[in-house]
Amino acid sequence: MSVLVTGGAGYIGSHMVWELLDAGEEVVVLDRLSTGFDWAVAPEAKLVVGDIADQDLVESTIRDNGVDAIIHFAGSVVVPDSVADPLTYYENNTSKTRSLLESTVRAGVPHFIFSSTAAVYGTPQKVPVTEDMPTQPESPYGASKLMTEWMLRDTAAAHDFAYTALRYFNVCGADPRLRTGQSTRGATHLIKVACETATGKRDFMEVFGGDYPTPDGTCIRDYIHVTDLVRAHRLALARLRNGGGSLLANCGYGRGYSVREVIDTVKKVTGFDFDVRERERRPGDAVTVVADAAIARRELGWTPELDDLDLIVTHAIAWERHLKQLNSSQA
Ligand code: UDP
Repeated sequence: MSVLVTGGAGYIGSHMVWELLDAGEEVVVLDRLSTGFDWAVAPEAKLVVGDIADQDLVESTIRDNGVDAIIHFAGSVVVPDSVADPLTYYENNTSKTRSLLESTVRAGVPHFIFSSTAAVYGTPQKVPVTEDMPTQPESPYGASKLMTEWMLRDTAAAHDFAYTALRYFNVCGADPRLRTGQSTRGATHLIKVACETATGKRDFMEVFGGDYPTPDGTCIRDYIHVTDLVRAHRLALARLRNGGGSLLANCGYGRGYSVREVIDTVKKVTGFDFDVRERERRPGDAVTVVADAAIARRELGWTPELDDLDLIVTHAIAWERHLKQLNSSQA
């Protein structure tokens, strides 16, 4: 029995692989290495380089490795890119997942865990947001993931198949043991950008929009440590294997920080007062998005252990320094 992790060479996927290996699972990674790295995949996992929409490859990988569960991370994740290039997002996130689901059903894999996103809510009418609140994505990224949730719902109703869709809030930080971290080139996510600036990879960073209706005028997000997030997936896997039915659950801490608060934390943790420039609003950004994760806590038995912004930034900075060393030793 083994677990297939799509996108396992990427940021969250590579943490998932370690989480599964630590729990004694056999792991197969399917990744086309478009944004991920082969060196990010734990050596104990098997890496298959290829596309999730290559049905022959997916189905032979499932059969050859006795896969009983798929954890699906492969996809595109940058909100403003999805606004500029929506069709690529619908292709990578929606069409290719449709193909993967077809392979999943055809090969008889009974369990599927999907990385969905808080972006399906757009700007919620109230926070913390619960799963039953209206979904009104404000970007093609959010819409592309919401359509996948609908495909999962309908597929589970028609076939012998159960899924867990986890709606991630803002994932950040790195493995506390620094076995992996966020290595994405040209990263755009706030904590990564701030840590790159604090460690000298960038000369300055930008704040997109200072006139939002929030206490300091910048957007508010719920930042969740990647290690807590992948733990929720492992609990979801155990639940599915125990016969648990399909489930939709938010993954966040239920506490929001503004862009300025995050930047101030990075400055405090590093002791470096880097250059921050004010810019216009960025297209597709929701104002305040904070999770109510009661369902994940109740149904998965999920108890976050790293719910501390200083700690998240400490791990993210440690990874940034580690990555710098790796890159300079490879150069
Ligand atoms: N943000 C920013 N500067 C950056 C990156 C992000 O001001 O260099 C802001 C962004 O406009 C949003 C928040 O930080 O309000 C979180 O953005 P991120 O891209 O990290 O995650 P998202 O919520 O879009 O998935």
